Amino acid sequence: MAYSAYWNPKNETLPRDDLQRLQLTTLRRLAEWAYANSPFHRTRWEAAGFHPDQLKTLDDLRRIPYMTREEWMASIAAAPLFGDLPATAAENAIRYHLTSGTSGRTPIRVLDGTKDWEWIAEMWCYGLWGFGVRPEDIVYVAFGYGQFIGFWGLHYAAEKIGALTIPGGAQPTEARVKMIVEMGATTVASTPTYALRLWQQASEMGIDLAKDSKVNKLILSGEPAGSIPAVKRQLEEAWGAKCGDTAGMTEVGTIMLFECEKQPGGTHIIEDHYIEEVINPMTEEPVGYGELGERVVTSFGRGFIPVLRYRTKDMVLKVPHTACACGRTGDIYEGGIRGRWDDMKLIRGTNVYPRAVEAIVREYDAIDEFQIYIWRNDIRDEITIKVELKPGREAEWPALGDELRQALADAHENLHFLIERVEPGTLPRFELKARRLVDARPVAVYHQ
Ligand SMILES: [Zn+2]
Repeated sequence: MAYSAYWNPKNETLPRDDLQRLQLTTLRRLAEWAYANSPFHRTRWEAAGFHPDQLKTLDDLRRIPYMTREEWMASIAAAPLFGDLPATAAENAIRYHLTSGTSGRTPIRVLDGTKDWEWIAEMWCYGLWGFGVRPEDIVYVAFGYGQFIGFWGLHYAAEKIGALTIPGGAQPTEARVKMIVEMGATTVASTPTYALRLWQQASEMGIDLAKDSKVNKLILSGEPAGSIPAVKRQLEEAWGAKCGDTAGMTEVGTIMLFECEKQPGGTHIIEDHYIEEVINPMTEEPVGYGELGERVVTSFGRGFIPVLRYRTKDMVLKVPHTACACGRTGDIYEGGIRGRWDDMKLIRGTNVYPRAVEAIVREYDAIDEFQIYIWRNDIRDEITIKVELKPGREAEWPALGDELRQALADAHENLHFLIERVEPGTLPRFELKARRLVDARPVAVYHQ
């Protein structure tokens, strides 16, 4: 059967003028809803002199004050459990989720109603369909199905598309590998880290996923690595499948970005449901195409928790939709989400971004796993890259270590990196999000 390449053929190919008209209409409706029903927004907007009536053109969006995670957390602390952001009463909710709470922060708690969940699934449908998932597919979801929102929306989207959907809930990795093979799964949803882990486990079981499984698509989410070329190459080769990057966040409940089948080296923005601005994080002024900045998201779909001009701290670089041949008119974040502005580490005066380090380390095929370990040697900050080699590749050491040290120095103003080889299986592997950065410097004397 011949399918359309698009989940929503009309909206995904709207001429930019029409798209922007649609955005303005939807933005007005959202702002009116938030003003009338969310005390969080109304209070801040009144203080800033903003009223939804001021939204005459799309540029008027900039009259709305930015919203930060800190403000959201403060509202939750002042009025537990949910703060004053929700625009409707808690009894209208059908689900409760919270952020994964990485780096020890207070988790953000969210409630969603029935319509919100329909929308959450709809957004994932754009992404799954856009990467080629069809009713004939068998989708295995390698996800814990807990309170972290993660792939819940993907699960519903796969069902909505009509694919056979397998919830890989509380299964250990070995059982997951077996089921992927046994059920003839064609599509696997996972974090990039866990997709590697599944492949390693399969190898230990004598299973070559590229040959012994029917998987032809990996849908990646949860970490920026899905758009790092070396990681993508490695995964595509290991699984004998195409890897499609997506990105979402608990604050929005679903994905905003997805990679289409043409794999243009980045992710399309779902612009009929979001406005994605890119700003200079210091000056807060907008930056143009091709300039690195922080993404600021306005989401049209979630009625319970209206999110307008939310500062994500995600590092992105926007390019026009014409960079892809698929015909979608949604612009593209080249390289997907490139990390977080607040992940930056200052080592002896040089800025180090974990994602940039990862992109370099992953160019070395013999490296199985790694960790960025930052520590203090007396009064001097040091950065050590701990690496595990793949079995059978030991002979490439120490030359590989020297090469890696040089490549990292070249990309970091000649900063000296220490390279340490550790035994296989020493470094932690995580299912949801890899913690490949450890900052062990004493906190009391550490100022970034
Ligand atoms: Zn495309």
